[in-house]
Amino acid sequence: MPLLIVEDDRELAHGLCSSLAQSGYAADVAADGRAAMAACAANTYDLVILDLGLPDMDGLEVLRRLRAGGLAAPVLILTARFDLDDRVSGLDAGGDDYLAKPFELPELEARLRALLRRGLPQVSRVSFGDIDFEPATRQASVHGRELGLTAAEATVLGMLLRRPGRVVSKSQFVDELYDHADEKNPAMIEVFISRLRRKLADAQSDAMIRALRGLGYRIEAGAHG
Ligand code: CA
Repeated sequence: MPLLIVEDDRELAHGLCSSLAQSGYAADVAADGRAAMAACAANTYDLVILDLGLPDMDGLEVLRRLRAGGLAAPVLILTARFDLDDRVSGLDAGGDDYLAKPFELPELEARLRALLRRGLPQVSRVSFGDIDFEPATRQASVHGRELGLTAAEATVLGMLLRRPGRVVSKSQFVDELYDHADEKNPAMIEVFISRLRRKLADAQSDAMIRALRGLGYRIEAGAHG
């Protein structure tokens, strides 16, 4: 289960990393806000642990930018600040839970389990070009017209919309769509993409799903002028 720990205290970060590894979590460490944004752009994490006191950028600003950039995973905020206002603004900025330092590892793990059990994070509506997508109901519309997507098509479209302008690889789609190795069928991705393209074209959307040979797919807006 891939996690990202954003923490500039090297000792704490690496201590957490090795403790969590024993519990079956594979954690990357980012030591500042820039590294966190780069890690989230390059990887898909199931959960992010975010320290608010970072050397280059306020942790809340990092969180806002990660959410604006499409991070959908739950975020557990770590902070030495005990102020209630900080807690509230942390949750407003897109945090899902909060833990004050210093904390005991079992408590952190309990919070992680709870966040991961919640399943899909409650991300708000995603808009891209003329497409509106509601992840909770998996409904997508263009100019108010419902596209009528299947669950798999909605998953594929959601992944593209959360990474606007960035490439999503076939294996990322496969990993998201199929839980078990024996279910995996990469050829289906082309089918889902082709159906999505047809539905977007039928709705006269300006958005276009571009194929990048050997890399994957990316959604682009205004492609038809
Ligand atoms: Ca810190």
